[in-house]
Amino acid sequence: MPLQSAILSGNQRLEQVLNGAPSVKRRPPNDDPDAVRRIQIALVNLGMGPMPKSFPNGSNNAPDGDYGDETVGKVTKFQKTVFPTAPAEWDGRVGKKTLQEMDNRLPKGAAPVVNSTSMSALAEKDKSTSLRWAQAAVQSLSTARAFFASTSGPFNPAAQPPPLRIALLALEAHFHFSTVVGPRVTAIDFISKSYGRAINVLANSQSFFIDDTTSQEALNGTPAHVPFAKGKVNFTPAFRERTAAGQGFGPKCRAAMVLHEPIHITNHPLSSTLQTHVHEGDPKYATNLAAFQLNNAHSYACFAQHCFFGSDTRFGIGRPAE
Ligand SMILES: [Zn+2]
Repeated sequence: MPLQSAILSGNQRLEQVLNGAPSVKRRPPNDDPDAVRRIQIALVNLGMGPMPKSFPNGSNNAPDGDYGDETVGKVTKFQKTVFPTAPAEWDGRVGKKTLQEMDNRLPKGAAPVVNSTSMSALAEKDKSTSLRWAQAAVQSLSTARAFFASTSGPFNPAAQPPPLRIALLALEAHFHFSTVVGPRVTAIDFISKSYGRAINVLANSQSFFIDDTTSQEALNGTPAHVPFAKGKVNFTPAFRERTAAGQGFGPKCRAAMVLHEPIHITNHPLSSTLQTHVHEGDPKYATNLAAFQLNNAHSYACFAQHCFFGSDTRFGIGRPAE
């Protein structure tokens, strides 16, 4: 059976190793660089990293494809993990048995190899944080819903015990909930549904995340955007890890973007008006009517963090380094 994982499958040299060809091993001579790169990406994905020498431009860019000391060390580490009682296997070479163990532990799929230089691949990594935040939001909304189902009239968040207090404070901070017209449970259900659809986009991100290097937004340096009615989240070259020189964005900032953009898909086109697309750093954010905030993608990214962290953090483009 050929290799099954998205990272290792499809390389001829590795497929041959699986069929008994000599191990991929330390240079010299240099082995097939694509095979070595896949092994290096696999090692990081298997939790053996970090590998700063092999990934000179950071772990989200292409590795060097050189089977040097660092790679030997990480392969050996992996072998000690999977063959703990067989020291003879700890040779730092990727032969049939080691390759099979790697392949068994990596995500399956006919998906193309994750392009380690692509922007959407970075977003793929960031989305686990976005999902955790969104799930915290859903949890808080269900707590708040139970409260509003039995309460009408004014409410005082500070008088409530946590986690209800946090949920109510976050609803007021990000959706200006005291201005909701009509039943509050209806508004809660609307917000919950929007998160549900955003979570669905994130869970199926292979169908939604694409790279964009050519649009006007990409040329303008907008890191992520959803083109009108196209239903895809576009990540541009500006969507990258923060560099020492102050370019790019920190992981929490990126996770906020990765949660923000699916709201544009699911609440499209209501989320793209001047009244709804109000940045959390804009004074208008605190006074904007709930009717607009309920479609504000910024509100969704910030509310979810507020629920997750228990305080108003507002990670996002206003906090680019974090
Ligand atoms: Zn937006």
